[in-house]
Amino acid sequence: CGIIGINGIHDASPRLVEGLRRLEYRGYDSAGVATLVNGHIERRRAEGKLLNLDMKLRDQPLSGTVGIGHTRWATHGGPTENNAHPHATKRVAVVHNGIIENYQELKDELAAHGYVFESATDTEVIVHLVTYYMEKEGMAPVEASAAAFKRFTGAFALVLIFAGEHEMMIGARHGTPLAVGYGDGEMYLASDAFALAPLTNRICYLEDGDWVEVSRTAAVVHDATGAVVERPVKTTAVSG
Ligand code: GLU
Repeated sequence: CGIIGINGIHDASPRLVEGLRRLEYRGYDSAGVATLVNGHIERRRAEGKLLNLDMKLRDQPLSGTVGIGHTRWATHGGPTENNAHPHATKRVAVVHNGIIENYQELKDELAAHGYVFESATDTEVIVHLVTYYMEKEGMAPVEASAAAFKRFTGAFALVLIFAGEHEMMIGARHGTPLAVGYGDGEMYLASDAFALAPLTNRICYLEDGDWVEVSRTAAVVHDATGAVVERPVKTTAVSG
């Protein structure tokens, strides 16, 4: 029910958890984070309170300066660790709020291409579809994401990171809010400005249908047609 992403120069995981703590008020049943460790996607996920995730991260810390975090309010698949986000393939990881309404049809299509699903969520189709476009159609991460976004119906917000891509994070807003945060040599994505308040007060709210490519220093926003658009960056009054 809350998402956060950091494309940074400092350790991501403690700051992802702090951001998730600021999203707790929305309610949730499980939580998780993923970071890039030496270019590989690594995850930690836990049922129940953020404290459980925190304890897991104390036992098995996650390094990495690029990462995503999620608090989940289960809609498809029970509130188990296995259904908790981030969901991932070897190539891409996602955190997602909302519902992919046509997930069953996409799941059948992807299963027919040999993709194996590990969870009972609607969310998992996102990573397999993006992976499909990269592996089978030879698309680059940005192209593959844009192609996948065209296939999803429903209301959702999401953030993607890619194995081996330290300079990229992709976000999409489709009926559920998503904010871009501008830091000092770092960029962020989150469900709201409050989650980002300890990191920055310079915020750009995406409009419905937008998706965004985020590096460490810039954001390129596209509208639903793919055209590059300007969205205002505002200084918010929300305090950290
Ligand atoms: N539909 C997704 C799931 O059940 C996301 C739920 C959410 O918004 O947290 O995993």
